[in-house]
Amino acid sequence: MSAAVLARQLREMPKVELHCHLEGCVRPETFIDLARRHGVDLPSDDPAQVYA
Ligand SMILES: [Zn+2]
Repeated sequence: MSAAVLARQLREMPKVELHCHLEGCVRPETFIDLARRHGVDLPSDDPAQVYA
């Protein structure tokens, strides 16, 4: 199999996200909003402390 064919197959292969690190994906403010919306108590409502 050529490198080009392999590259194309890898590009076209369905992908799945196994998990996501919230610290790198969601703003602290958004994290707090989502927690409130879903009734989740957080140790702090301070965006500076959410990921501390
Ligand atoms: Zn991980």
